[in-house]
Amino acid sequence: MTQSEMIAATAARLSQGRAAAVRLKDSTLSLVCDVSGLDESARAEMVGRLKAELGALEGVDEVRIAETSERRELPIVAVASGKGGVGKSTLAANIAVALALAGRKVGIVDADIYGPSQPTLLGCDETRPEARDKKLVPVECRHGIGLLSMGQLVKPGQAIAWRGPMAGNALTQLVDAHWGATEMLIADMPPGTGDVQLSMIQRHKPVGAVIVSTPQDLALIDARRAIALFEQADVPIIGLVENMAGYACPHCGEISDPFGSGGVERAAQEIGVAFLGRIPLSLGVREASDGGEPPAGSENDLAAPFTDIAKRVARWVDERRTA
Ligand code: ADP
Repeated sequence: MTQSEMIAATAARLSQGRAAAVRLKDSTLSLVCDVSGLDESARAEMVGRLKAELGALEGVDEVRIAETSERRELPIVAVASGKGGVGKSTLAANIAVALALAGRKVGIVDADIYGPSQPTLLGCDETRPEARDKKLVPVECRHGIGLLSMGQLVKPGQAIAWRGPMAGNALTQLVDAHWGATEMLIADMPPGTGDVQLSMIQRHKPVGAVIVSTPQDLALIDARRAIALFEQADVPIIGLVENMAGYACPHCGEISDPFGSGGVERAAQEIGVAFLGRIPLSLGVREASDGGEPPAGSENDLAAPFTDIAKRVARWVDERRTA
């Protein structure tokens, strides 16, 4: 972690995600703190704590805090793919779990109306969100992750045949909800380039997108289409992830590549975007995910690739916010 990352992470933790534009220049640290919704004593306490603890950090002589009560923008990271079944929802859930375990307050918006799987992945299948002041209150799932899902708005098994404005309005209900101190939203996007994707991109403007693909050429063609959609709307691509690469035989341990390997990294180079990492095809990933405990929360080898990718995503978002 660089010094500026460490300072940004400390400011985020102390302010419960309310600090933004954190900048250190000539040993003066400046930041903007969103104090909306806090009463006078809570506000004074937060500002006092930020000044004391950040001022004690090495290289910081003075802390200047500009208070604002304008609702700060909650950064949305879109996790997308060109087509379904490539592990987009699995990656979104695991990024959220890894970040939550690193002390971040994250939420997931499951916008995948065709297969809302986040309630299952995060082990909060049965719970439906309540509404307060006409806004939804996210359901608290494993590791304190807040979740709002299209799947929670409809009865299980009911085919979701929403189109256009209906899907767009449902999405807005999920995004403009009581996210409280949440620092970052991970959006599990539907596959492809339809109405919900456009609504998310145009109305809610994610800070960046992570694109998931399997290594085969066919999947990559779809991934390129997804990238083009974000780029047309000026949503930067944080990077590409290769999923289901390299299968370790559970019997002999030999690694084989049923879908090939390395194709996504090569494509990232060609397109000129970052390659964020590779996740092996593994029975353990599927079993843990279907069991409602994403592997990023486990202590075994399956967690590492997800944790690394999550770190790179968080660093990217932090750098954007402090730039
Ligand atoms: P998408 O969101 O792209 O439709 P999912 O995340 O729902 O894809 O994944 C599809 C299926 O593949 C799920 O059953 C999931 O558990 C499984 N899966 C995803 N990634 C892996 C992996 N790396 N190894 C094994 N199974 C995986």
